[in-house]
Amino acid sequence: CGIVGYIGHRDAYPVIIKGLQRLEYRGYDSAGVALYDGADINLSKTKGKVEDLNNKAKTEISLKGKLGIGHTRWATHGIPNDVNSHPHYSNSGNLVIIHNGIIENYDSIKKELIKRGYTFSSDTDTEVLINLIEEVKKQEDVKLGKAVQIALNQVVGAYAIVVFDKNKPDELVVAKLGSPLAIGVGEEEFFIASDASPFIEFTNNAIYLEDEEMAIIRVGKEIKLRKIKNDAVA
Ligand code: GLU
Repeated sequence: CGIVGYIGHRDAYPVIIKGLQRLEYRGYDSAGVALYDGADINLSKTKGKVEDLNNKAKTEISLKGKLGIGHTRWATHGIPNDVNSHPHYSNSGNLVIIHNGIIENYDSIKKELIKRGYTFSSDTDTEVLINLIEEVKKQEDVKLGKAVQIALNQVVGAYAIVVFDKNKPDELVVAKLGSPLAIGVGEEEFFIASDASPFIEFTNNAIYLEDEEMAIIRVGKEIKLRKIKNDAVA
């Protein structure tokens, strides 16, 4: 299971596909990618290999975009199939997530969200988390980073996540507990990955998130590193 993210001035797709290939050694059953093309999110995912994803994405979606996320999944909740593969959208279609790890209390959160009208297309714990983030964002009327922090404080489990909002496409929000997550800092660009191998050819400036740490990443800004439990997130 691996995660890759990119935001900056390059085309994100080649960075992500190459990065996912470098993370194949971690083991996986499915792969997927989501790109922001300047107006919309284009998403492609499949059971199988990164090469299968590459072939599918090329025919299925526009590969344009300077912001993107990619994932290799090792299924824990829901069988390996196309629908359960990541990335996952929130119900509004505005938020999108990739996740390595397990949300242990996903079932009780899912029931609560269903009561509030949410629907689920996959059997994953991950789709529950992105809808919890969406619900918190709406209920508390807070920015994405704050919503991610509040949601993660309601979650039991392990994760490395990357989230972005189509309505705020200059920003990636990442968080880690248990699963690894590294940020590569370049010139006016950032790379996210499970280890540094996807971005060592672009930068040797890497930040390794600690457990219970999150970061709000914006091009042209300093990275905001925060503790998930007790730091103030604006
Ligand atoms: N628990 C998530 C799922 O089953 C993520 C698995 C992973 O770490 O790849 O989709």
